[in-house]
Amino acid sequence: MTEALDLTPYCSTDPLRPYLHAPFTQGGHTFATNGYILVRVTLRPDVLPPPENKPRADKLFARDWREPTMPLPAFTLPEERLRECENCKGEKHNFHACECCECTCEACDDEGRVSSLNTVSVGLCGAFFAAKYARMLQPLPGIRVAPSKDAMSPMPFAFDGGEGLLMPLRTTLANHIDVPAITPATP
Ligand SMILES: [Zn+2]
Ligand SMILES: [Zn+2]
Repeated sequence: MTEALDLTPYCSTDPLRPYLHAPFTQGGHTFATNGYILVRVTLRPDVLPPPENKPRADKLFARDWREPTMPLPAFTLPEERLRECENCKGEKHNFHACECCECTCEACDDEGRVSSLNTVSVGLCGAFFAAKYARMLQPLPGIRVAPSKDAMSPMPFAFDGGEGLLMPLRTTLANHIDVPAITPATP
């Protein structure tokens, strides 16, 4: 038996979306999402349904699912560097002059640090994706992708033990890497 995929990296850390901080079970599958990438695996009995049964992740699949059959093309990203967030100076909260500031720092999502990959996008299957989410496809075993229906729809992907959707960007970011599709070998 293969080891179950660790779903933690696919969960959100956004303080405004506490309901996405852990995997959840819905409609016969177990899901994890950060709002940009969504993965679905075989139902894990120890994972609970989300409060109020939201978000409706199962419905997204019904709408946007296309069978992914193309191997994910290989791509190499620049090495990730983390630097202190300029907006909150790494303070996360308490960065405004107001006493007891509880505001979320939008520049770093309250991480205190920002990734150099935040300005990197990847062109895959005719659409643009944030590199920090596209790279989450790479470790998935047997990863396959399908072109999305249009440039604004999520890209379906599948791997050994599950499948998922990756949200595209509207435009490229400051540093863009175009990844050519794998062309089938001619006989
Ligand atoms: Zn910040
Ligand atoms: Zn404040």
